[in-house]
Amino acid sequence: MSHYLTPELLSVLVCPKDQGTLHYEKERHQLVCDVCKHAYSIKNGVPNMLE
Ligand SMILES: [Zn+2]
Repeated sequence: MSHYLTPELLSVLVCPKDQGTLHYEKERHQLVCDVCKHAYSIKNGVPNMLE
């Protein structure tokens, strides 16, 4: 399911708007920015950072 989202990958992903830290919400299968709370959906194991 989320096998592409390794801790190493998550540690380098930041919000493109404000460089905030992203954390993974497994209930919604999204990455959520800690700063602006924007949620990025994950398609085929790759976060969509362009939303
Ligand atoms: Zn953000």
